[in-house]
Amino acid sequence: LLRQKAKLATPSEIPLEYYCFEHYPEYRKLKQQQQEIAALGINNPFFTPQEALNSNTTIVAGRELINYATYNYVGMSGDPVVSQAAKDAIDHYGTSVSASRLVSGEKPLHRELERAIADFIGTEDSVVFVGGHATNVTTVGHLFGQNDLIVHDCLSHNSLLQGCLLSGATAVAFPHNDWEAARRVLQERRHRYKRVLIIVEGVYSTDGDIPNLPEFIEIKKRHKAFLMVDEAHSIGVLGAAGRGISEYFGIDARDVDLWMGTLSKSFASCGGYIAGGQAVVEYLKYTAPGFVFSVGISPPNAASVLAAIEVLKAEPQRVTRLQARSRLFLELAKQKGLNTGTSKDSPVIPIIVGDSLKSVQLSQNLFKRGINVPFMIYPSVPHNGARLRFFITCNHTEDQIRSTVDILAEEVEKMHEH
Ligand code: PMP
Repeated sequence: LLRQKAKLATPSEIPLEYYCFEHYPEYRKLKQQQQEIAALGINNPFFTPQEALNSNTTIVAGRELINYATYNYVGMSGDPVVSQAAKDAIDHYGTSVSASRLVSGEKPLHRELERAIADFIGTEDSVVFVGGHATNVTTVGHLFGQNDLIVHDCLSHNSLLQGCLLSGATAVAFPHNDWEAARRVLQERRHRYKRVLIIVEGVYSTDGDIPNLPEFIEIKKRHKAFLMVDEAHSIGVLGAAGRGISEYFGIDARDVDLWMGTLSKSFASCGGYIAGGQAVVEYLKYTAPGFVFSVGISPPNAASVLAAIEVLKAEPQRVTRLQARSRLFLELAKQKGLNTGTSKDSPVIPIIVGDSLKSVQLSQNLFKRGINVPFMIYPSVPHNGARLRFFITCNHTEDQIRSTVDILAEEVEKMHEH
């Protein structure tokens, strides 16, 4: 080993892959995959510029398409009231707060926003971060440590997994939505750890299904654990008024310790929040690295969320419409015999194709026929679980949904013929 070390110390013998990004084996693997895709005659499907507002339609290369590739679930991005609020905030405060809120970045808008989020969800308080991904990484990474156990759904979002890694806690994944398996993990292992965190999501963005939250609350109470719910895809979406999974099940929001959500989806902005009890919110605001050592959310981003919450409270029919359109899409797809997996009561509807290449091709065939829908392939989903993912918005018309499902069924049929 010493000889090896000495050998590596000679600069001329240090391999290029150690100090040159072009020679990174991981980068070369990416280039190889890109070449393989190009060799199959498939255009690069990534980073396609969308030239207009992303709503029920979009524009790509000058062509209007029906769009199912946006999380603008309740149509808040592009809403004139929301846009005006962002413009007014820029006029008043500028485009950036130019410092961490802890020092000089705090604006009256920030507290107003955090109060509004807490009131909307039904918790004591909330804290807002500049990224949804960063919210999970810094919160989970900071609140838990080596002596702790994190029990999470196997389909947890990357940001949650990164948070687990950063924390150094023991992380155990349970099979998707299997609360009984989660309970068994706690029964068997709770006594060996100090703090335990259970993590679920309000709506899973790969499958469009919803966990049995009352059961998870029962488990967390019985085993004296914390419960965290990522509401990225459920806030503004579930429940009669869009207040999320707590409203869907009619549970008290205070039964969950950490409500997490993104500001980038139903709230038409950029950032994330943690809502919960006063103590955890205060602790995060004074100590979470991703908050303390990061700039405060920008004035237009904060103002657009505040406005979106007001619009949502005034127009709950947006949520009702979103739910009705989602139900229509799901029913029609099922009638056509398409495989929608476990999607239920949510605007995320997968069409499971199985084969990765086929799902890329299906997405491109639909694109040619005027429909923009993203695919999901391995490693984001299991090898045989490749799919298209339709994200419904409240702005989709019934006609758009009917014609989409008709075209989709035709293209799936053609795909099976080949
Ligand atoms: N959590 C979940 C479940 C998500 O789906 C996402 C992003 N799609 C995030 C967190 C991160 O949010 P953002 O994109 O706003 O950073």
